[in-house]
Amino acid sequence: MNKATEKTYIPRKDNARSCCNGTAAILFMKQIIYLEPVLKENLWGGTRLAEYGYDLPSDHVGECWGVSAYPSSCCTVRGGKYHGRRLDDLWREEPELFGRTKEPQDFPLLIKIIDAQQDLSIQVHPDDDYAREHENGACGKTECWYVLDAQPGATIVIGHHAQSKEDLERMIADGRFRDLIREVPVKAGDFFQIEPGTVHAIKAGTMVLETQESSDVTYRLYDYDRLQNGKKRPLHIKQSIDVIRTPFEPKQIRPVTCSMSAAKLTKYFDCRFYTVYKLEANGIADVPLSGMFHTMSVIDGEGYLDGGRVEKGDHLILTAGYGSMHVVGNFTAIVTRV
Ligand code: ZN
Repeated sequence: MNKATEKTYIPRKDNARSCCNGTAAILFMKQIIYLEPVLKENLWGGTRLAEYGYDLPSDHVGECWGVSAYPSSCCTVRGGKYHGRRLDDLWREEPELFGRTKEPQDFPLLIKIIDAQQDLSIQVHPDDDYAREHENGACGKTECWYVLDAQPGATIVIGHHAQSKEDLERMIADGRFRDLIREVPVKAGDFFQIEPGTVHAIKAGTMVLETQESSDVTYRLYDYDRLQNGKKRPLHIKQSIDVIRTPFEPKQIRPVTCSMSAAKLTKYFDCRFYTVYKLEANGIADVPLSGMFHTMSVIDGEGYLDGGRVEKGDHLILTAGYGSMHVVGNFTAIVTRV
């Protein structure tokens, strides 16, 4: 990736602070860890991820895994003391960076930017209990989408119109998928929380930033009868019926914004897996962070974060106990706290 060579991180002199947890004083080093994203080619992908500064290997790149410790697609660190280390190694071997104790054993989040040039298949994820029992102890998946861009008239699928399990089974048996799915219009800046058991799909012409539990258990409910290499992709009808919640109840999103001199921080959603914020910096400001480590994905603009340069397309980790971040410039980022 060509961005690597342009990146310099200038540590600030006051980048260490201590905290007393009642039994022992822990010295947190305030660090920014830049990650090298992993790009994925998909039949439904396009070329718009180039707008984020990535070198695309083809004209059907659908996903940028910006923060991932998923074993087969793990991000590596770019620059600084940990340059070249895999995020999953860092998570295991440098637990103090993440302020973590023994649990969870695996890095808990996966953050992607998705460019859907065509419709994605309609899918549903199980919750942790179902996945543990039926998928060899895997995690379920709760996820959310921040819509980065949507073409005029774009829609997404979220939810369904079946009133009961029997209704759901009947509609699936009759192949009435188009009556079943609930499609809603989308525009840039919309936010959706997708609980396990929610039927969902990103449709053509939409880019989203997706924050999710680090899991890949997905059941495909319907694929528009499309062919891939002359064949339909497998569906997971039984599992889908097992996990789809009926009737569908939309999750209410009530963003709360707090302003700090030249920055705004908007909290979109808080669940037991993550809290998702949008940071909008327009000048110079100090923005407080609390708790465990945070991830940040810059979705627009450029600037500096505690002396480190950040620009659209960057994904980074702010280590545990980071405290306040000093932001300079004009940029927008999605910030996630575990
Ligand atoms: Zn999903």
